[in-house]
Parts: sequence; structure tokens; C-alpha cells
Amino acid sequence: MAVARILFTLPLPEPFDYSVPEGMTLAPGAYVAAPVGPYDRLGMVVDVLGDEVATGRKLKAVTAVYDVPPMGAPMREFLAWVARYTVTHPGQVLSMALRARDGLLPSPVEVRYRLTGKLPERMTPARQKVLDAFRSDPKCPKVSLNDLLLSASDIALAAEVSSGVVRGMAEAGALEPVEIEIDLPFPIPDPDLPGATLTAEQAEAADELRASIQQGGYAAFLLDGVTGSGKTEVYFEAIAEMLRSDPAAQVLVLLPEIALTQAILARFEARFGAPPAPWHSGMSPKDRRRTWREVVHGRARIVIGARSALFLPYRKLRLLIVDEEHDTSFKQEDGVTYHARDLAVMRSKLEGGQVILASATPALETTVNAELGRYTRLRLAARPGASRLPDVELVDLKKAPPEKGKWLSPVLERALIETLANGEQSLLFLNRRGYAPLVICKACGERLKTPGTENWLTEHRYTGRLVCHVTGYSIPKPTHCPSCGAADSLMGVGPGVERVAEEARVLLPNARIEIFSSDTAQGGEETRGLVDRMATGEIDVLIGTQIVAKGHNFPNLTLVGVVDADSGLKGGDLRAGERTYQLLSQVAGRAGRAERPGRALVQTYAPDNPAMEALAANDRDGFLQIERDVRSELILPPFGRLAAMILSAPSAELVDKTALEIAAAAPNGEGVEIYGPAPAPITVLRGRHRRRFLVKSPRTVDLSAYMTAWTARLKLPSQVRISVDIDPYSFL
Ligand code: ADP
Repeated sequence: MAVARILFTLPLPEPFDYSVPEGMTLAPGAYVAAPVGPYDRLGMVVDVLGDEVATGRKLKAVTAVYDVPPMGAPMREFLAWVARYTVTHPGQVLSMALRARDGLLPSPVEVRYRLTGKLPERMTPARQKVLDAFRSDPKCPKVSLNDLLLSASDIALAAEVSSGVVRGMAEAGALEPVEIEIDLPFPIPDPDLPGATLTAEQAEAADELRASIQQGGYAAFLLDGVTGSGKTEVYFEAIAEMLRSDPAAQVLVLLPEIALTQAILARFEARFGAPPAPWHSGMSPKDRRRTWREVVHGRARIVIGARSALFLPYRKLRLLIVDEEHDTSFKQEDGVTYHARDLAVMRSKLEGGQVILASATPALETTVNAELGRYTRLRLAARPGASRLPDVELVDLKKAPPEKGKWLSPVLERALIETLANGEQSLLFLNRRGYAPLVICKACGERLKTPGTENWLTEHRYTGRLVCHVTGYSIPKPTHCPSCGAADSLMGVGPGVERVAEEARVLLPNARIEIFSSDTAQGGEETRGLVDRMATGEIDVLIGTQIVAKGHNFPNLTLVGVVDADSGLKGGDLRAGERTYQLLSQVAGRAGRAERPGRALVQTYAPDNPAMEALAANDRDGFLQIERDVRSELILPPFGRLAAMILSAPSAELVDKTALEIAAAAPNGEGVEIYGPAPAPITVLRGRHRRRFLVKSPRTVDLSAYMTAWTARLKLPSQVRISVDIDPYSFL
């Protein structure tokens, strides 16, 4: 009797042993059900051993094995590596790979009926109506009657008869039941459809990628091209080559925002004649199950998704593309914390496949890896055709401030008026949702916060509510100050996109002005609608948060105004300067895409900041050099390692007491420095008090192993929770 070692999708530290029943064959990677306590649970076989390990033990038996190909070794190694690196239980990581577990089962079927051509012996008016319903079905006029398949309920509805009549006709042999799978496979992409005619530098980059794919094995590339230089067109060529050269190969394209996915799905469909398999959190359970099933069977050839698509159980993932690789939304902050770009590189290494990181503003980590020769850098320096990069001008708000109570400087106002007069479009960028980021009482000076926390409430005029962007807490805007009771005394302070829109409407009363933020474009439909209206020129001025920064091509957009360039520089985040530079150059890059030259006006109180100077001089590499020097001096990533530990408890006393015990339990580590415990910047979240440690070490230290050793020593009260974040990006 063989023994299967099974890892369950539960937060357990180890796999368990089960006996394999007679007649069942199991391989490592097989998906199985087996009893844990009173229930059968989903698990994966990590190993199959001979019966010697069973001697003298009473093992429960595996209940069932799912009829799908077992998970391959590279994916299994990847999951184990992620668990170790992120300091998480392997079962928790496995459950990320099994998010749509009903995809393990075949597609559900539905019974449909078709005409057999035979008439029932006994004809009734009701039966005649059924036959007529087929003849008049408007769904598929081109399908021959004998091929038309209709469900019993559709027939009953169209013929105005009961479903009993339909069943009766099937029994009489006039209709034939046919089982149809509900989840359809994805159409097969065609790599040989024509792509764009590449420019010389695009062709050179595409050739290098194609050659690498033909050679095979692991290789990593940085596709470093200015916004609009055709990076997408170039990686399309790599995808085509991969599909052509290996009929079983799968390709994954990771994208930072769902909003962007919508427009790019259509580009994929145009290039490959078939839509790719999507994967993101906004999909229905049915669509998720379909993508998951097609991926596990190896039938989905191109998957396009958010960071979690990295954990789908690919059979043969040979090419991975991380578009906008610098984007911080690739960092998962909750649960298992990981950075999808870094994991994508590891995934490719384990698979022996290729990975392409694409960006106009690569992260410092990526730049350093390219300089060290770990990634091959492919450069695209120019936009194709007549399209030029926009001129960036800094508007020094100390010298030329807006009028009191306004947010647009006279220079920007003039530019907006001119652009409208020329029949061209403008984009105003402000990374703050709502009307005002802070609400205070004019009578008593109270700042309105989420109860029990230090988080300010943002005023949203559109919905008439005050909203906390950290916790999601929200209330209708009160008529009286909750602190002193004064009537009509609450006042919004500072600008959000809604307030800038209000100002723009006064300045340009005849312009068509719309707001683009996660409040106004919540779903794919709304986002697509807005993007389409902007692309077809139905909007004159678009006012948006960072959601507008990414990927959209608006051919008639010639002016970008950055309302408050400094907002991202505040706060002690080590990547604040880098992120500001990336975001603003992405936003500026929206201007001047087609034949018309673009300009970007950047309002700042800090024109001497290196990020602003580099932006104006279009000197990305100079800026990266300064960032690099600072981080190398301070031994910060990528020159050193960081980890965070956050602990939380229902009371401040308990969290403080436990924090001291945790500090005392820290192991010794060569060169490891521990800062804290300190109150986390978000001190109270959903009723829990939070403290944090920041741990810093040289690159030579295995910080994951250190954190594992530390947390293994802890005996925490049950009300205390800790989470570890290796290489944290958010310091909240
Ligand atoms: P990036 O990904 O670098 O921002 P894209 O691939 O989105 O750039 O290209 C920007 C725009 O230029 C797109 O509309 C794209 O179709 C177009 N484009 C890029 N390269 C070519 C080319 N060689 N010929 C024609 N159009 C191109």
C-alpha cells in the first residue's frame, strides 16, 4: 500500500500522510480530497512513498483524486519557495493556487434540445407551437434547423407551452436532448496574424527576444522604453514566437490595473484573433472557474491578469511579461505579502522560461539588476512616427501661486483655455479622490476622523458623504459639528478631484469636463465608457487620479496639468521620490501621443527636489543615479534588505506588553538591526491597535530565515495577531 503525503489548503505547518486505496494511482502534484477531522478537504499530493512509512501507523485513506493533470514540479517548487520567502504556511500559499477550485471539475452541463426531423405520432396544437418556435428562433438565423440547440425553458417560453410538452416531444422522438458544456474553452490564438510594422529599434528588440525564445531556457529582459514607444507591440512579437515554437507553451501577461486590462484586451484580440484568458478579482465565479480550468489543462495559451494570476496552476508557463513592472500595485499587502514582479522572475527561473519586465520608468531594483547583468536591457528610445515626448515645465507655486481658494495657477489656467480653443484635450492630474481630503469645524477647529482612529475623513460631494480611505468607514455629511454642535460649520480643506473639477467648470464654462477616479469608474463598463469618450473626443477636460496615468492612448490629448506634484513626496517612505518621478512621468507621457506635440505643466512648491528637476530635464537616468547613491549609502533596498512585522491586538495595553516580549525574543543576527516597537502610522485599524518593527540587514543575510526563526519562538496570546512583510513597500 502506497502512502501519499498531502498538503491541504489550510494554515497548517506540514503535510499529512494518507494511505492510497487499491486501484488509485497518485503522482506528486495530484489534486485530491482526503479527510481532515470530520470533513473531506482539498489538498495536493507533495510526495508518494512506499509502504515502509506506513508500518505500525493507522492511516486514513485518500477519498478521491480529481481528473485533471497534476501540478508540475516547477509550480510546486515555486509555491514552496514563496512560502519560505514570505514566512507563511505552505498550505496558505497552495490555497492561492486553488482560488477557483470548482475548476477542478468538468464544466457543468445543460440539456438542450434539437429537432430530429421526425414528427410525433400524435400532433397537438401545443406540439405544433414547439415546432414553430424552432423555425422562428431569432437567435441564430443562419444555423440550419437541425443544428439549432435550445434549452427546455427557452422553448417553453417561446412557444408559450409548459416544459412538460417539451419533455413529451422528446419522449415521442421529435426532439433529441443534447448535453452542452456551459463553460466554453477559449478560442486558440493565432500567432501568424500580422502585427504592426515595427520601427528599426522595435525590430531589433523583437529579434533579440525571438532569438532568446528559440534558444530556450531561462532568460530575463528589461524592456526599457519611453511611454508610447511600442513596448506592447514588441512583446506581442515575443508572445507570437513562443506560441509558434512550442504548441504547449503558456504565456502570462501581468498588468497593474484592471482599468487598463479592458483596453488592452481588445489589442490582444486584434493581434492574435482571439481574446486572452482573463484573471482578476472583478470576475464572476463562473468566469474564474472557466479560466482556472483552461489553465490547469494547459488549454489557455495566453492569460492576462492581475498579480494573483501568477498563482494559477499553469502546465507549462514559458513566457511571463510584467508590464509597467515598476508599479507598486504589484505588491500584495494583505495576507501573504509578495511582490509579483520579483516572484515572476523566480517563477521563470524555476520553469526555465523567459521573463520580460517592461517599463518607461523601471524600478531602481530592476535597473540595478540590469546593470549587474542579471537582466538584458532592450531600449526603445523614441516613439514611432511623428509622436514626440511632451515638454515638461515646472510651475513654481511659490512664485506664481493660484488665487486664494483656487488650485490652478494662472499659467495652467491660460494653458487650459488655449488648449480648449485649439479643439484639443487636457488632463488634470491630482492623486486625491473626493472633494477635500480633510473636513474641519470652523467653530471649534475639530478635524473629523474615523472614530477610534487618527484617520481623517475625506469629503465626497458627489455622494454627499464623508469617507475614510483607509478603513472604508463612511457617513452622510453631518449638518452639525459632532464635537461642538455648531450648525453648517463643517468645511472641506485642501483639494480633491471633485473640487478641481468645480474650479475648472467655472474657468471653462463651455467645456465638457469629467472626473476619472475609482469613485466615478467603479466597474469595467464605466471605465471603458469614460476611456472611450475621452478617446473619441467627447470630453474636453478629464480630471483624474492615478487611474488615468496608465496605458491609455488619447490621440488628441495635448496638455497635462499636474495640480499638486508634491503630495507623494510627503511621509517617510523610502521610495517616495522614485514613486513620484514614475507617476508624474507616466502622467506627463499621456500628452502628445499622435501627430500633435504635447506639454505638461507640473505645479510644485519644491522645484529643487531631484525628482522635479529630473522630470523637467527628462533625465531619468540621472535621477536614478541619485536615488541609487542615497540607498546604497544607507544600505536600503536593493543594496540591503528590509522586513516589517506588524502586530495588532484589541487593546493598547496588550499590544504594548506583547511587543516588548517579541522584542526580547529577537534572535541575534550578524548585521541585523531592529527598529521598534513603534506605533504603526495607522495606529488603530478596525478596532485593533497596531505596533510595528522594521528590520534591516545587509544583502548577505537571509532575512526570511531570520524572521521565520524569530516568529517560531513566539508564544502569543490568542488575541494578538502578527504579520510579516518581507521587503515592505507601504509603511502604514
Ligand atoms: P508602450 O507600451 O511603450 O506605451 P504601445 O505599444 O502602447 O507603447 O504603443 C503606443 C501606440 O503607438 C499604440 O497606439 C501603438 O499601436 C502605436 N504603435 C507602436 N508601435 C507602432 C508601429 N511600429 N507602427 C504603428 N503603430 C505603432
